[in-house]
Amino acid sequence: AFIGMRACELAAIDVQDRVFLGQAVQDRGYAARRRDLFMVAVSCAEPGGTCFCASMDTGPRARKGFDLALTEVIDATQHFLVAEAGSDAGRAMLDRLEPRPASDTEQTAAERVWAEAPEKMGRQMPGDAREVLNRAFEHPRWEETAERCLSCSNCTLVCPTCFCSQVEEVPDLEGQRTERVRRWDSCFNQEHSHLVGGPHRESVAARYRQWITHKLATWHDQFGTSGCVGCGRCITWCPVGIDITEEVTAVRRDPEGRG
Ligand code: SF4
Ligand code: SF4
Repeated sequence: AFIGMRACELAAIDVQDRVFLGQAVQDRGYAARRRDLFMVAVSCAEPGGTCFCASMDTGPRARKGFDLALTEVIDATQHFLVAEAGSDAGRAMLDRLEPRPASDTEQTAAERVWAEAPEKMGRQMPGDAREVLNRAFEHPRWEETAERCLSCSNCTLVCPTCFCSQVEEVPDLEGQRTERVRRWDSCFNQEHSHLVGGPHRESVAARYRQWITHKLATWHDQFGTSGCVGCGRCITWCPVGIDITEEVTAVRRDPEGRG
């Protein structure tokens, strides 16, 4: 079971399902782990300053993809959870807990949590990010951002939708056996784009552009959805403070890059 999942994480799993299960060849390892997963979601009442799921339409209320969803209502006079079942497995689990139906007042209090949470988010992604980035392949912003970007790959390691991997062959010390293993990789690693003749995204600017345009623009063409769910983790964990919402906003404000 995954317990305490936020709506952005449910949305990220939906993205990963498309990547690993929705293609001509399914990923057997992913499918095996995914099959019996029981997911308990918690709707966000206190989003963080780097969150922007409301503008990506993925949260903060857990709306789908869960077995059970909880909403915590807490104030000076009351503290309770409103639970919803999203699947037969979730319904069976709820039945075992023998809850009582929520009163109208309790339901209204939960609805207030859902309504107020978006107002507490610190970030917003422009709604036309895909169009903005599709017109910005040669934008000078990528060179400016690359002056700060360390190409450390933190943003891809914390991103719940990043899935890139590479295959390595690992021989044992006796030279008797070689294993072919899949290792998680990042498009910020120079070798990730190694083709005949060397890496084709040699510069940091090229790698940053690849990451942001894939997430918010070409992912739609490839998988029918955005690759960003608005969780804000890449903002939180970037050691130099690069902010995906700020990057799109800057390009949008100055589409020709005239400064
Ligand atoms: S790109 Fe950033 S905000 Fe979007 S899903 Fe990945 S980590 Fe979260
Ligand atoms: S976390 Fe920040 S510095 Fe590191 S690769 Fe991502 S954008 Fe660049």
